[in-house]
Amino acid sequence: MEKHVLSKSTFIRGAQCLKSLYLHKKRPFLRDRLSAVQRAKFKRGADVGVLAQQLFPGGINLKPKSPSQYRKAVAATDDAIKDRSINVIYEAGFQYDGVIVFLDVLVRDDSGWRAYEVKSSKKISETYLTDAALQYFVINNSGLHLNDISIVYIDENYRLDEMLEISALFKTESVLTEICQKQNYIRQQILKEKEVLQLKHSPRIDIGPHCYHPYPCDFIGHCWKHIPNPSIFDLLGTCNKLAYQLHAEGKTSYQYEEIISTLSPEEQKLASLLRVSAEKIDCDSMQKVIKAESTGRLYFVQILMNRPSIPHQKGYRPYQAIPAAISVLFSDGGNSEIRTKIFRFDENVERAFLEFCNLIFNQPGTIFTYTEHIREFMYWFSEHAKVDQEDFEFFNLIDIPNEYTYFHPELFPDHTIDNLKKFLNRDLKPSHSENLLLMDYNAAYFTDSFNKNEILQTTLKDYLVSCVETQRFFYNFILAKCGTESWD
Ligand code: SF4
Repeated sequence: MEKHVLSKSTFIRGAQCLKSLYLHKKRPFLRDRLSAVQRAKFKRGADVGVLAQQLFPGGINLKPKSPSQYRKAVAATDDAIKDRSINVIYEAGFQYDGVIVFLDVLVRDDSGWRAYEVKSSKKISETYLTDAALQYFVINNSGLHLNDISIVYIDENYRLDEMLEISALFKTESVLTEICQKQNYIRQQILKEKEVLQLKHSPRIDIGPHCYHPYPCDFIGHCWKHIPNPSIFDLLGTCNKLAYQLHAEGKTSYQYEEIISTLSPEEQKLASLLRVSAEKIDCDSMQKVIKAESTGRLYFVQILMNRPSIPHQKGYRPYQAIPAAISVLFSDGGNSEIRTKIFRFDENVERAFLEFCNLIFNQPGTIFTYTEHIREFMYWFSEHAKVDQEDFEFFNLIDIPNEYTYFHPELFPDHTIDNLKKFLNRDLKPSHSENLLLMDYNAAYFTDSFNKNEILQTTLKDYLVSCVETQRFFYNFILAKCGTESWD
C-alpha cells in the first residue's frame, strides 16, 4: 500500500483553503502557534469520542499509536472485518486512492455494516457532513459497502441525574441521504487537492472570510502580515464582504471618508479614535467607577467558568456554565485581602459557591469583574450567591475598553485580561491562559487526578489572584487618569 497523500483533517483543510493545505504540507514552519482554544477543542473531541464508544460496547480498538502505524492499522481493519467474531471496531482505518480515514465506530449487524462518526458538538454542521461524506467515499471505494452512516453528537437537552446515561447523552442521526449528494464534490475536491500538492509554489489565494470560517486558519500570521494594524478589518470585522472588497481595491486602511460616512455611530467613534491613535479617556462616563469607593466596600471578582461537554453536576446540561474557581479581592480603604476557592468535581458546586459568597460579601459595596461572560456571572450571583442586589452595585470593567470609554492603541483590539495585564506591565506567565487552564482542569477530571494535582491547583489559584490584582490595578489606573487618585 502506498503512503497516503491526504487524511480527513488535511482534506477538510484543503476544502477550506487550498493554500492552507499547501502550506500545511510544504511550509509547516510558517504556521502560527496553535491557539489554546483550538487545542482545547481537539482535546474535548477526543474525550467525547472515547465516551461514545460505550454506545457500541465490546469492540476492538485499532487506533494507531502514531502516524507511522497508519498503514498497519488499515491492514488490521481489513483482518478484523474478515473475522466473523468481531462486530464492533473503534477507529477503523481505510485507504483509497491516496486518502486515509479513520472512522470512530464501525458496526456489523445482520444486514451488513454501519458507520458512526462522533462529534462533541450540539448540532450537525456542514463541515461534519463533508467530513462524513469523505469517510463514506473512502470506505465504500476501498471495498466495504456501508448500509448507513450516522453522526453521533451531544443532545443539548440532556440533564444529568444521579448517573451519566450515555444513551441519553448522545443523539444519533443518519446522514446517508445528505452525504450521497456530496460524493461528486468529494471526488472533484480530492483531485484539486492532489493537484495543488504538486505545485512548486503555494497557490495564489487572497485572504477572505475563508481565513476564519469554518475554522480560524493557522497561517493567518503569514498571510495577513501585509495588512496594516489597525485596518479596515478592525472596523468592519473579518466576515464583512465590504472589508474584503475594499482590501481588493487596495484600501485596507480604515481612514477612507467614503467608508467612515457609512458606519454606525459606534463604528465612527472607533474610526476617529483609530485615526488619532492616541490615548483617550471619557471620565464623565465612568462616574460609577470613580465614586465606587465612597459607596462601600470594593470587591474585584474573577470567576473561571467551565463549560464541560459532559456534565458532572446533577441537574446540569452539556456545556452549561459552572464555576471552576473564584477569586475575590476586597478592600476597605488601605486594607485588602484575597480569597480564592477552587471547586472540586465531587462537591456540590452550587452549595460551595453560596458558602464562599456568604463569607465574603458581607458588607454593601461595588462588585467589579472583568469578563466577556457577564450574563453567566450575573446568573451565578443572583441565583446561587444570593447577593442582595440592593446592597451591591455591579460593574464590568471590560466595558471600559469595549465601549472605548478608555482607548489606548496598545490595548486595541485585544481586550482580554491577559492583554490588559501586558498593557499595565503586570507580570504575565505565558502558560497561564484561561483556556489552557480549563483544558487541564477538565483533563484532570477525566483522569480523576484533580484532587491530587497540587501543581494545577496552585496554577489556577495564581492565575485568578493575578486577575483580581490586575482588576484593582486597572481601577486605580482609571482613577489616576481621571485625576482623582495617584496610581500605585
Ligand atoms: S490565512 Fe487565509 S489565505 Fe492564508 S492559508 Fe489560511 S485560509 Fe488560506
